[in-house]
Amino acid sequence: MKVLICGAGIAGLTLAWWLRRGGAEVTIVEKAAGPRSDGYMIDFFGSGYDVAERMGVLGELREIAADIVELVYTDPRGRRAGGLRYASARAVLGGRVLSLMRGGLESVLRSCLDSGVEIRYGTSVAAVRDVPGGVECELTDGTVSRAGLLVGADGIHSAVRGLVFGPEERYLRPLGYHTASYLLRDTGLAEEVGRRAVLVSVPDRQVGIYPTRDGALAAFLVHACPETALPADPRAEIAARYPGMGELAGRVLSHCPQDPYYDCVAQIRMPRWSRGRVVLLGDAAHAVSLMAGQGASMAMGGAYTLAVELLGADTEAALERYERRMRPFALGKQESGRTAAGWMVPHQAWKIAVRNRLSGLAELPGGGAVMGRAFRRLSESVIPAA
Ligand SMILES: Cc1cc2nc3c(=O)[nH]c(=O)nc-3n(C[C@H](O)[C@H](O)[C@H](O)COP(=O)(O)OP(=O)(O)OC[C@H]3O[C@@H](n4cnc5c(N)ncnc54)[C@H](O)[C@@H]3O)c2cc1C
Repeated sequence: MKVLICGAGIAGLTLAWWLRRGGAEVTIVEKAAGPRSDGYMIDFFGSGYDVAERMGVLGELREIAADIVELVYTDPRGRRAGGLRYASARAVLGGRVLSLMRGGLESVLRSCLDSGVEIRYGTSVAAVRDVPGGVECELTDGTVSRAGLLVGADGIHSAVRGLVFGPEERYLRPLGYHTASYLLRDTGLAEEVGRRAVLVSVPDRQVGIYPTRDGALAAFLVHACPETALPADPRAEIAARYPGMGELAGRVLSHCPQDPYYDCVAQIRMPRWSRGRVVLLGDAAHAVSLMAGQGASMAMGGAYTLAVELLGADTEAALERYERRMRPFALGKQESGRTAAGWMVPHQAWKIAVRNRLSGLAELPGGGAVMGRAFRRLSESVIPAA
């Protein structure tokens, strides 16, 4: 089987690995000029962790994982308002959770790909035509590629989805927030933050800072914003949106680069994920949003599920079965993402206070059991037990 994957992100790389292992011929086209690095900090558990274990890459992932001991909520004056010890979260997840930079995860997935997988950087899909037994794709480098299947693994703003299923507005559901992230280096700030992830919260805004494995810090900003359209100058927008968040947040914001990662926080909801010999995977099909905190895991779980189905049945039946297995999970995670949004970055001060108090639940008598149930539901995996 010949498969063309659009997007060398978490979903595309994982799918390529599993398909190659099953003997498929795989080419990936990736819009970026080269491997993307850095990004933002990801809590990695559930389906993604299970798939990584089956790929035999947990050792490499542990080596690059950040060693965070605690998540701390503070007010702008730096006063601790709540928090969660990572050891408590790890314990209820049976130790099966890692804090990874998105770029680090992608880099491990890329490095374990066999050399038979070609990744064509700086290239995308410009047009798609059905042909007997497959698709013919015009690529942006002027070449034409024929394959038995085209997989759109090109993220929340998927070009393949736009070409085959129609415009983004039909499927994109904004959750009312914008987000930004960037890496920074500041020795004094790194010493102050230590091994903690610190989140400074006020109504409608949150500035987060996470220590990475190599001494850099990952900034993570979220603010309420009803607009879907993105600002022309994200850095200026950030400067305008985050005044008065206190000294620590101010130092984080002072490092904002000219071109940070910036996007609206949204989900993708579609009635079908495949049409003919074109199928969508990961965020392109069912972005759950950062509020659900499981998009990377869902991308890997979906890639594994799609590969297993494709290697075991004819393409049409495989696409049906992939969707039947994945959809209930995706819908469930999307629902938790919508519920979580109002608690992750509350609009009201009272809600911030309640969230901060509840974050310490695990440390109270009986609280561990309650949190355990919530975390186990959250980490439910699409991967059947081995
Ligand atoms: C701030 C933030 C925090 C997050 N935190 C978490 C978390 O804690 N846990 C978690 O599991 N998930 C988290 N997520 C979500 C997670 O990052 C995504 O769900 C995940 O990256 C989806 O993987 P993907 O491969 O489907 O898409 P992507 O990671 O978006 O990869 C898509 C790839 O396709 C490429 N591409 C895009 N357009 C084209 C095109 N036209 N042609 C060719 N290539 C193209 C891109 O360059 C990229 O390489 C977070 C997301 C954000 C923004």
